[in-house]
Amino acid sequence: MLLLFRLIFLAILIWMGYSSSVPMPLVILAAAAFYVIDLYVKYRIDEADSLNTIDLLRTTLRQHPTPYYLNLTPTQRLQFEERVIRFILQKEFIARGEGMKVTTEMKVKIAACAVQLTFGLKELYFTHFKKILLYPDRYYSTIYKQYHCGEVNMRGLIVLSWRDFEAGNVNNEDGLNLGLHEMAHALHLENGIQNEEYDFLNREYLRCWTRLSEAELMRFQVEKSIFKRLCAAPDEHEFFAVAVELFFELPLLLKQQHPEIYNSLANLLNQSPADSKTIILSNESALHQIS
Ligand SMILES: [Zn+2]
Repeated sequence: MLLLFRLIFLAILIWMGYSSSVPMPLVILAAAAFYVIDLYVKYRIDEADSLNTIDLLRTTLRQHPTPYYLNLTPTQRLQFEERVIRFILQKEFIARGEGMKVTTEMKVKIAACAVQLTFGLKELYFTHFKKILLYPDRYYSTIYKQYHCGEVNMRGLIVLSWRDFEAGNVNNEDGLNLGLHEMAHALHLENGIQNEEYDFLNREYLRCWTRLSEAELMRFQVEKSIFKRLCAAPDEHEFFAVAVELFFELPLLLKQQHPEIYNSLANLLNQSPADSKTIILSNESALHQIS
């Protein structure tokens, strides 16, 4: 339709240009008018396309809601949806591996993980990590010479095995969630990268968390419990990512058995999933908890 419109207008312009009865200023004016109308039509088409995309993303999230989303109030759900949409629009999702195809549902589920983690904080989209690579299953890392189910690397990539990502969503109370784990790595790294999102975590809470995780890393060496994955964490980054999984999937147990870890993370992420409804803490209550 747009092409037909352009051809017709172009034919009129050519006719005007060759016609001796049409003065040149009028031809120039018509050409300028054509250019402006063309830009406007293109803008409206782009706008309609992006509105359709946004509608599709919102509908997909509502059709495939995560337990976290379902636990939010109606107002919070709308805010959550907006963040999920913005996250997706800022990322490039790339299918890797044989037969892999990235669907809207996949994008929405991945974005929902990132937004869950950052929902208590200002809007964050991990801007350093522009590309999300999706493999159908575990993939071979030529750097580490082994199969991986996910990773976040400083070249701006978040990599996920879709099978493992979905396995993490089957049981939301087992403390295992690949999506939350990798997004926690992205959050931790993004906080230290000098860009527009740099240094977003409260410095005092982060200092508390770092001190605590160093001490807990030592203590967990001897612990044999559901939290034993924490003891396997080789460094502070891994400890944080595993603790985030436990924080969202076993919040009550974590709060009961390791209140220091729970409270420190609640302060850092400004939310408290152990409460019956997901509670986004105000800064004041977060300050109160730390004192
Ligand atoms: Zn990890």
